[in-house]
Amino acid sequence: KQVSSTELTRHYLDRIAASGHNAFLHVNPELSLAQAAAADQRIAEGTAGPLTGVPIAHKDIFVTRDWRTTAGSKMLANYVSPFDATVVDRFNAAGMVTLGKVNCDEFAMGSANENSAFGPVQNPWDALAVPGGSSGGSAAAIAARLAPAATATDTGGSIRQPAAFCGVSGIKPTYGRVSRFGMIAFASSLDQGGPMAQTAEDCALLLNEMVGHDERDSTSLTFEQGNQPEDFTRDLDKPLDGLRIGVPSEYFGEGLAADVESAVRAALEQFVALGAVLVDISLPKTALSIPTYYIIAPAEASSNLSRFDGVRYGHRASEYKDLQDMYKKTRAEGFGREVQRRILVGTYVLCHGYYDAYYVQAQKIRRLIADDFQAAFADKCDVIMGPVAPTVAWDAGSKTNDPVANYLADIFTLSTSLAGLPGMSIPCGFGQGEKNSKRPVGLQIIGNYFAEAKLLNIAHQYQ
Ligand code: GLN
Repeated sequence: KQVSSTELTRHYLDRIAASGHNAFLHVNPELSLAQAAAADQRIAEGTAGPLTGVPIAHKDIFVTRDWRTTAGSKMLANYVSPFDATVVDRFNAAGMVTLGKVNCDEFAMGSANENSAFGPVQNPWDALAVPGGSSGGSAAAIAARLAPAATATDTGGSIRQPAAFCGVSGIKPTYGRVSRFGMIAFASSLDQGGPMAQTAEDCALLLNEMVGHDERDSTSLTFEQGNQPEDFTRDLDKPLDGLRIGVPSEYFGEGLAADVESAVRAALEQFVALGAVLVDISLPKTALSIPTYYIIAPAEASSNLSRFDGVRYGHRASEYKDLQDMYKKTRAEGFGREVQRRILVGTYVLCHGYYDAYYVQAQKIRRLIADDFQAAFADKCDVIMGPVAPTVAWDAGSKTNDPVANYLADIFTLSTSLAGLPGMSIPCGFGQGEKNSKRPVGLQIIGNYFAEAKLLNIAHQYQ
């Protein structure tokens, strides 16, 4: 007997209510069940699509009319949006059932989900480990079987790295393919939404609904620019004979943990067994991706976050002398330490006198980083593979007060984001945690622009 959406939704809502991972921030069981009932109706009428009735969790950075949206910030603790994000709209139209909103680093700034104003998220594989970030709630919800699917966003790795740390699959599409409308902005030239799920096939089905031009997002790629709707499941079963996999030396050098390296190399060998060939390549500007990203992202963030001034949105200080004092107190109270740090860095690199030395320079290096990839894709390889992160998930608390340690761990995900390329993370075994625990390892698959279907094909063949 086929399980109904109502039964399925109840099952997940019960699991969410009983779980202690702090993955979910806001639920509204009544509303979820009403959506499920509507989906069951569509199924009975024969008007259902492939995702009708399937539950999904939304990262709390996509605005929703019927659930609060906090972006993990005290600034938006009680914020309710008057509209739904385009991504949410599309999943609603497909008949998916919203289970609730999931935790994330404040304004998506972080790599461990320890920057959420609503507390950290536990890694379901190992309670001592972080789940990764910033989409830690999305990844943990899937790993703990609290949701079969989730939305996430990736500015510098926030889909791929938490997926890797929690042993699930996630894909960051080509920049501009998924609408940013209603996705609370962090760094607009980098932010990109995408799906997380257990498998590549599930990610493909979800991406089918997410991708497409949106006139409400000025950087959304148009149909003419190549952003056509596609069936991302179409190539899943294609054999991989002759696939040329670029293996960048910079992704296997110093700093890569031995357990991660051996899991990733074992995965590469499996692709060879599936007919692929490995090609040594070089992405020489990889190391520069960290300083480049940590200039550009804070610069854009400082501008985007200026809207949180206590006048138009969210938190406002309760006592103040005058307007300036209100702004200051509101922002000092509403933003957490990492967000404040980014605003300070961002305003510094943008200010007159430093702009050319930092921001303009970073933009030039950004182009060189993108050129590295184009040189590799031009004649050497079809896709690039490597680790998602240099280590498995680290211990909760071990890097909380060390921002630079967090930034350095982003080394393998930032350049893909700076170049605007699609990247995927799939589980490829386990490394070593504390006290003999096992912590998941993620394999990263990077493709050229619009190569999402190829990445999903490769991921599906591996699984
Ligand atoms: N860890 C990176 C940062 O803190 C990336 C975050 C993201 O992709 N949203 O900025």
